[in-house]
Amino acid sequence: MAGKKSHNHCMFCGRPDSEVPFLLQGMDGYICSDCAKLAADYVKEIEGEGKGKSAKPAPAMGKAPKPQEIKEYLDQYVIGQDRAKKVLAVAVYNHYKRVQHNLIDRPQDGVELEKSNILLVGPTGTGKTLLARTIAKMLDVPFTIVDATVLTEAGYVGEDVESILTRLLQEADFDLQKAERGIVFIDEIDKIARKSDNPSITRDVSGEGVQQAMLKLLEGSIVNVPPKGGRKHPEQEFIHVNTQNILFICGGAFEGIERHIALRKNTQIIGFGAEEKQRIAKDNLLEYVDAMDLRAYGLIPEIVGRLPLVTYLDQLDRDSLKRILTEPKNALLKQYEKLFEIDGMKLEIEPEVLDLIVDTSIKNKLGARGLRSICEKIMGDAMFEAPSSKKKVFKLTLDYAKQRLEK
Ligand code: ADP
Repeated sequence: MAGKKSHNHCMFCGRPDSEVPFLLQGMDGYICSDCAKLAADYVKEIEGEGKGKSAKPAPAMGKAPKPQEIKEYLDQYVIGQDRAKKVLAVAVYNHYKRVQHNLIDRPQDGVELEKSNILLVGPTGTGKTLLARTIAKMLDVPFTIVDATVLTEAGYVGEDVESILTRLLQEADFDLQKAERGIVFIDEIDKIARKSDNPSITRDVSGEGVQQAMLKLLEGSIVNVPPKGGRKHPEQEFIHVNTQNILFICGGAFEGIERHIALRKNTQIIGFGAEEKQRIAKDNLLEYVDAMDLRAYGLIPEIVGRLPLVTYLDQLDRDSLKRILTEPKNALLKQYEKLFEIDGMKLEIEPEVLDLIVDTSIKNKLGARGLRSICEKIMGDAMFEAPSSKKKVFKLTLDYAKQRLEK
């Protein structure tokens, strides 16, 4: 593991005092004279644009799709999860409006629209990434997905948090203005929760340290981004990215958070009688998730404050899994039908096969994530034989599917 950097260093570029002309001291750290100059230039540029003096006007945004249109689009690809879809649809619509208002119209009324980042809480395989991916498909803004588990605090093995913005820049073909209005999906944010019940003497470099580093991205500030990603090093040139209008959507399973919700709910509903308690116990507890539970789980309060929109995704039941197999625009079984069609063959599937696939996935506790591998197991041999076969129809019967799975 790499050691920590020397204590007197620039908080922007990371260079120590020995490698910069001089350091200026602030409340909590230093800025080097080089970064101070760059920051001053940047501020001038932004102010100039604000007064209409900008040589380069911000490019126009595509027309903002209305929340209902966004939801309808999502419905084509994602089964269920109506609540999360609505929250996302509104957030994305507002994102468009905010960018239009803050960056393009630049009104003189002083009303700056602030962003509301989103947190999607739900078990794995319920569609969090799929929702974010699908939104990306319909949008006219750069979009990237990053996994929080690869991030570590600056100076340690792993990727710096700033590398998130490198990816967004890459998605925007290094067009800074485009990247500064993009959307980032940070997956597995629950994995960087503070490990409070583990009072280790070593620093929590992949937990609380990362949350602290991530804070400046989420809250909107100018961040030094290494154009090639990975680890920052002193000789590097940086791109200064303003995250004020970048929308962050975070996702996490938050396994076990129900315990915190139950604890809070039970203490809060004292006096409401046993019936209410029972109702809450029976319902999906995630429905009640709020900021206090997230803090109890190990997210630092500042991060929770920067994720004001929290919504949850339902566990997918048998019926939803069955629908996932057949209904979405690129449903798994539609994909197999297409593969056979390309070989000039019709694929006919007995309805009972769907039950078998879904039941196997539930039995293996794989949810929607397991559906593809089960289908692959069943279809493997048939897809091997189909291209050389003279048959015009392939009938996928329950017996055939059972045999393949037992094999
Ligand atoms: P998560 O991010 O919640 O762990 P994913 O979105 O990666 O889960 O889901 C894994 C796969 O399962 C997706 O690629 C998709 O094929 C399927 N899937 C999960 N949830 C849904 C859903 N609600 N509707 C349609 N497909 C889904």
